[in-house]
Amino acid sequence: MGPQDEKPNDMFVAMVSAKAEVDCRLSDFAPRSQLKVAAHTVDRPRFPVIDYHNHLDSLAPEDVLRVMDASGIEKIVNITMRTGQAALDTMDRFHRAAPSRFASIGWMDWTGIERPDFIQLTLDRLERCVEHGACGIKFWKDLGLTVRDASGNLLRIDDVRLAPIFDKAAELRIPVMFHTTDPDAFFTPIDRFNERYEELAAHPDWAFQASPIPKALVLEQRNRVIARHPKTIFVGAHLAESSEDLAAVSKLLDLYPNLYVDISARVSELGRQPYTARKFFLKYADRILFGADLLPDVEMYRLYYRFLETADEYFEYPSHASRQGRWNIYGIFLPDDVLLKVYRENALSLLRLGAR
Ligand SMILES: [Zn+2]
Repeated sequence: MGPQDEKPNDMFVAMVSAKAEVDCRLSDFAPRSQLKVAAHTVDRPRFPVIDYHNHLDSLAPEDVLRVMDASGIEKIVNITMRTGQAALDTMDRFHRAAPSRFASIGWMDWTGIERPDFIQLTLDRLERCVEHGACGIKFWKDLGLTVRDASGNLLRIDDVRLAPIFDKAAELRIPVMFHTTDPDAFFTPIDRFNERYEELAAHPDWAFQASPIPKALVLEQRNRVIARHPKTIFVGAHLAESSEDLAAVSKLLDLYPNLYVDISARVSELGRQPYTARKFFLKYADRILFGADLLPDVEMYRLYYRFLETADEYFEYPSHASRQGRWNIYGIFLPDDVLLKVYRENALSLLRLGAR
């Protein structure tokens, strides 16, 4: 009989060896933290905020304005997810309602991709968007993962045929926003090892297990475009899709002076690495944009402010209903000069690019 087969008869050994097999359903498990630490509610941000990444298409401007006034939000950039006339109408509706409070970013329209004149068609569409006040164009993760050309081949982000579109954006002085790929966990199986298990269980269509190419290759294609078009300003949405690896984001920002990043929907990631995140914000204060990417809501915005402004510990992050992972976050108490840039000045400089 080896020592490991012996039943622990020592009280201490028994105590530190005990394990439990429990069958509480994960969905029912809702532990309440007993931690007693300082907690601050930040009702209003230190400076007026520009939310550079949100989606308001289905909302009434007056309802959004009420939330904005109550939350200290000066302006929201609505990234319309509509295309064609519907997109132009949506932009008009918001700009008419409150020209100084709303701005718009257009959505790349792939209709007509099979047409030989698709690039010219897109350049014309871009011009029309800008005539209706668009201050940017967004490429979504369908490019690189699902959009196919006329011959049925997966379209690469760095396909040279698309190059005139990125050049046109520089000519029109509008940034190009990229949301290509998603968190690393979305590219791994939805199982008990997945740190976003419940989120992916709620949204199985968000998973990329069957992705035709690995995440790293999609990002490489995107980076090649950023490198190839130095006169075009790019915004990497959601921390350029690498919020789990801020060293990688730093490298991109060092390499590409024409790149900005937004923090939308990634406070969960930033706030679980507060030391690294704080250093990142201090170093790249001129290149980081505030964004929410969540339905405008007073409490949601307050969590963003609490994260950016306070040194509070272990509190919930702003999120959609299915949450992003079972962890809490820590505030990064940014100094005023950094807050001012992240809250509004960086966004203002991008919004003013195209001012004619
Ligand atoms: Zn978004």
